[in-house]
Amino acid sequence: MKTDFLVVGSGIAGLNFALKAAKYGKVTIVTKKEIMESNTNLAQGGIAAVTRKDDSVQLHIEDTLNVGSGLSNKRMVKILAEQGPEAIRNLLSFGVAFDKAKNGLHLTTEGGHSMARVLHSGDSTGKEIEHAMTESVRENPGIEVFEDCFAINLILVNKGCIGAKILDIKKRKVHDVFARTTILATGGIGYIYQNTTNPEIATGDGIAIALRAGARIEDMEFVQFHPTTLNKAGAPHFLISEALRGEGAILVNDMGTRFMLEYDKMGELAPRDIIARTIFNELKHGSVYLDIRHKGRSFILERFPMIHKECLKYDLDITKELIPVSPAAHYICGGIKTNEYGETSISNLLAFGECACTGVHGANRLASNSLLESVVFSSLGAQKAEQYLKNKLGTLQKQKETVFFDIEPQELNYLKTELRKALWDYVGIIRKEKQMGLMLNKLERLKARLAVIGKNGINTRFLELKNMVTVAYLVTKAAYTRTESRGTHYRQDYPTTDNKNWLKHIYLEQTNDALHTHCC
Ligand SMILES: Cc1cc2nc3c(=O)[nH]c(=O)nc-3n(C[C@H](O)[C@H](O)[C@H](O)COP(=O)(O)OP(=O)(O)OC[C@H]3O[C@@H](n4cnc5c(N)ncnc54)[C@H](O)[C@@H]3O)c2cc1C
Repeated sequence: MKTDFLVVGSGIAGLNFALKAAKYGKVTIVTKKEIMESNTNLAQGGIAAVTRKDDSVQLHIEDTLNVGSGLSNKRMVKILAEQGPEAIRNLLSFGVAFDKAKNGLHLTTEGGHSMARVLHSGDSTGKEIEHAMTESVRENPGIEVFEDCFAINLILVNKGCIGAKILDIKKRKVHDVFARTTILATGGIGYIYQNTTNPEIATGDGIAIALRAGARIEDMEFVQFHPTTLNKAGAPHFLISEALRGEGAILVNDMGTRFMLEYDKMGELAPRDIIARTIFNELKHGSVYLDIRHKGRSFILERFPMIHKECLKYDLDITKELIPVSPAAHYICGGIKTNEYGETSISNLLAFGECACTGVHGANRLASNSLLESVVFSSLGAQKAEQYLKNKLGTLQKQKETVFFDIEPQELNYLKTELRKALWDYVGIIRKEKQMGLMLNKLERLKARLAVIGKNGINTRFLELKNMVTVAYLVTKAAYTRTESRGTHYRQDYPTTDNKNWLKHIYLEQTNDALHTHCC
């Protein structure tokens, strides 16, 4: 198959690029499950942008840089904040319905923001965005969507990307799709951890695919752990949005004592890493709860209908009861290194959204900046779409065929559970050299075992696990290398921030099967 733009992934980043690039050429979207299945669809709190008169781009920049703990790219942060209002106009043009207030759109606040600037749609902002964009994509004759199609690897000629190998999961066939430009918009990696807010699709495929192709991968040690996810036996780690704290919910311990102000003057609105670590430590002595009861039933039902409904499924009425919470892996600040147009270190390969590392988050992400980042940079990337039409369409002569094979699921499931638990225990919220060393050894063993299992062919379960092991290795290697604590990365053996030696990034590259670690 041939196309102008091959977009891998149907979250906010992939759909936004597709809608914009379709003005210039044929767009083909492949996505590994149904179109709506994505991290985007689960986003609750909202999208940050400067939309009120008493706010300013400069304040948004400062808030983002403060949370980024010295490693955010200032130029990219400036672009992000400046382009924020345009990104919101863009979403409104697709029919996204944000909540309204008397004088315009309703704005809320979240941790790290010095004022209310988060637009939202109840507590289901992502679903509203994903739905509106999916509708626009379906109506656009220039865009074809192939669901249940899994990107395995990129096709490269002379170190340039000419397309990707795609597994049609239902037909069990691998196809070569040739494109003038290939776009990775495959989302996050949260599912490599046992406890996560992310859905099963978040296995880091795009980052692993790009690494195998030789792309530069940066800032992988900075995994953001969300402080408040539901902590109830039998329930998933469902996200209890930061917006609850933004609207006045407080954190209390078993004794009913509010504790966050003892650790940070911003209290419940301190940056996520500080709250996550504080809760993690409090949990060693007993349970931790969020309390929003004082806001009243009608407010809670109107502002957080989805969270209220979801918790009721697990016998918890948040209008009357405390919400037991614990942290879980939530977001990867690093990824495939890109510039503001999504261009990577490989020609004709772009990356947008959570799988990309634009540098705006640095060592930690300001709440609600990720949906914004996805829209801003995929829109800028699409501005070059016309220019990419000049790229030649590739054809490949001889290559080894990739074969579909029904690999028994039992061992793969066992290895996946082992990987996710070990990563949570050894490279989680609090990290130490010894545990990370053990994890690197474990990952080498898992890699070797998968090489044997994969000798007969591939299936999706196998491909995802292989990617998870690759990405877990990148996270562990980078975290092991950074001998300091900064942002989301906390080392018990190096608990302080070391600006003298570590005001720099770690990036990883693979050449001829060997992984190289560099600092810059
Ligand atoms: C519970 C939750 C709440 C959040 N709340 C907020 C919030 O309020 N505000 C905010 O700014 N951010 C929030 N985030 C983060 C934000 O949602 C994500 O960073 C953002 O949606 C990422 O968008 P994306 O397009 O990059 O990836 P995604 O939306 O995850 O989409 C990735 C797509 O790629 C596809 N894909 C992956 N691998 C392959 C493959 N090998 N082949 C084919 N297709 C593939 C997936 O199926 C999916 O369609 C939240 C995240 C979660 C999990």
